[in-house]
Amino acid sequence: MDVQFLGGADEVGRSAILVNDRLLLDYGTLTATPPQYPVGNVDPEAVVVSHGHLDHVGAVPALLAGSKRPEIHWTPPTAELARILARDTLKLHGGTMQCPFTGAHVSRIGEVEQRHGYGEPFEAAGHEITFYNAGHIPGSAHVLVDDGETRLLYTADFHTDDTRLLEGSRARPDADVVICESTYAQVSHDERTTVESRFAETARTTMWEGGTVVVPAFAIGRTQELLMVCAAHDLECYVDGMGTEVVSMLRQYPAFLRDADALGRAVRHAREVTGRDGQRRRIANQNTVIVTTSGMLSGGPAMTYISEIRADPINRISLTGYQVEGTPGRELLETGRCELNGGIYPVSAQLELFDFSAHADHKGLRTFLSEYTGSQVLVNHGDSCVAFAEELREDGFAAQAPAVGETVQW
Ligand SMILES: [Zn+2]
Repeated sequence: MDVQFLGGADEVGRSAILVNDRLLLDYGTLTATPPQYPVGNVDPEAVVVSHGHLDHVGAVPALLAGSKRPEIHWTPPTAELARILARDTLKLHGGTMQCPFTGAHVSRIGEVEQRHGYGEPFEAAGHEITFYNAGHIPGSAHVLVDDGETRLLYTADFHTDDTRLLEGSRARPDADVVICESTYAQVSHDERTTVESRFAETARTTMWEGGTVVVPAFAIGRTQELLMVCAAHDLECYVDGMGTEVVSMLRQYPAFLRDADALGRAVRHAREVTGRDGQRRRIANQNTVIVTTSGMLSGGPAMTYISEIRADPINRISLTGYQVEGTPGRELLETGRCELNGGIYPVSAQLELFDFSAHADHKGLRTFLSEYTGSQVLVNHGDSCVAFAEELREDGFAAQAPAVGETVQW
């Protein structure tokens, strides 16, 4: 087997791995200005997609250019999320260099896609493939690839702990080679229950004091989890933005949720914002919680709410995910200022980052890998892949951290 890293190696973003020159695992984008894509001119027979995040699926429609029609294999939620993300990319950047495909490419997806559940082996480009729940977002999968000689396990993004929305990753199929993500290899998360309680307590305090709590949340996974947290802690809340579309879609695939009924109750508990900015301004002045995209303040209704509440220290902004460098959310955390409608404004509202992570931390990664002490480990998808591979080698693993463009063979 040979495995070439076309992206997502010693970096986070544009994940793409070519196996035996025929089979592509993921084909994502790296969000930056300008956006970056996997290297090389790839022409695979099939692409297998681990999950519906832009950095894993964002460039997949571009594989359907001209007369090329590689098969696309994914789980049902990933299939839906890929389309939602593609439509969003077209809306934001269609017709510019920022978008590597057109609406015509997206409409071809239906001609070539095949959907698979967890634990159901299928064939793609001469390889046997099996998906296993990865516990990262709904529909996310570990991908086991067998070419008849070598068994390769591509972990993709995964979480070992349960959340309200998802069961953590449990499957540990035998593998000769493991490609392991390492997003949080240098981080230790607090227990989810601790994070949740602190989130709920601070929100309740703000409301008691007469303030509003704006909760920027990623559309996929995080918005749904936070609605479940609000319902469980009896926090009155509104939900706004692209996360609402994702909620309706996910409820059609209950098998990919930990407790579909609980999500249904959480949706009924929340009030959906269907109006425009006038309604948003009114809601922003109620004592309530507002769960809204975007999670890193790079657009979406969150910006309207933050403009309304930013000046009063009685209000609160509860960030709920990692803020990537260069995003307005990161800028706000570091400087206390936020870019709104083209201007930069000071934010007096209270600000806190809650670590609702969807990735395994250092302990989770090591626990996962403790099942693979006899396997070759290739560390990818992180900012410190080399250091984590070195740590693993010191502990007796055969580990390395390939670079973008590098090919590894057995
Ligand atoms: Zn992901």
